[in-house]
Amino acid sequence: MPAQAELRPKAVPGGIGILDLGPDALPRPQLWLDAQPLAVLARQGRWQALIGIPLDTPPGPLALRLGPSPTQSHELTLWVEPQTYPTQHLRLKHQDQVDLSPEHQARVAREHAEIKAIKQHWRDTPYVDTDFVRPADGRVSGRFGVRRFFNGQARAPHSGLDIAAPHGTPVYSAAGGKVLAVADYFFNGRSVFVDHGQGLISLYCHLASIEVHPGQWLEKGARIGSVGASGRATGPHLHWTVVLNGTNVNPELFIRP
Ligand SMILES: [Zn+2]
Repeated sequence: MPAQAELRPKAVPGGIGILDLGPDALPRPQLWLDAQPLAVLARQGRWQALIGIPLDTPPGPLALRLGPSPTQSHELTLWVEPQTYPTQHLRLKHQDQVDLSPEHQARVAREHAEIKAIKQHWRDTPYVDTDFVRPADGRVSGRFGVRRFFNGQARAPHSGLDIAAPHGTPVYSAAGGKVLAVADYFFNGRSVFVDHGQGLISLYCHLASIEVHPGQWLEKGARIGSVGASGRATGPHLHWTVVLNGTNVNPELFIRP
């Protein structure tokens, strides 16, 4: 199995904040960001909340709710530090690769809604493994948060980490969990979602092959498929996204630098 690393929290947009919620002798507290429940884990005798900070969060105070439900709660604050992500301009030779047909636009909108719903999935479990292994061997070819422009048109910031590797390179689950969904998307190609519990979800895209099925339990480092270029990819690579409380966070915070 590849070497695992320890989570390195960083309270920036696209990062992970930590809040101490008292001794773990008391019942596990519940914390919310808007209507989204947050992971609360027992660490060194304390309850600690892990907060995935959305990339578009302005630096400064971020209001969280502590209580049995978002409406029956009191406010806690997480301080978000600023972070700038690089900008990248890409030239595509054919403008029709930039402008989608109405049919493709409709498919992409449908899949976008489906992906968003899967990312908000919550499975309550006392233990969540945040010590990840690198899901594929290869060179990092695209970092999280990069603001991309195709032929001058702004696109959504890069939602994950790209690892370039030859076609067929094994892809492993970064941590133990349950296969939440398997799909074939217009942009992401063949994709596997793994649910690690309490809103921590990882997503593996552009796969050549998928070797797991929904509902299957996986050990950390279990093989789930192989690197490919399915969907919209210029060459074989793994696009790897890590989601916490429904928001994309920087996968590099979970692996060895
Ligand atoms: Zn990518």
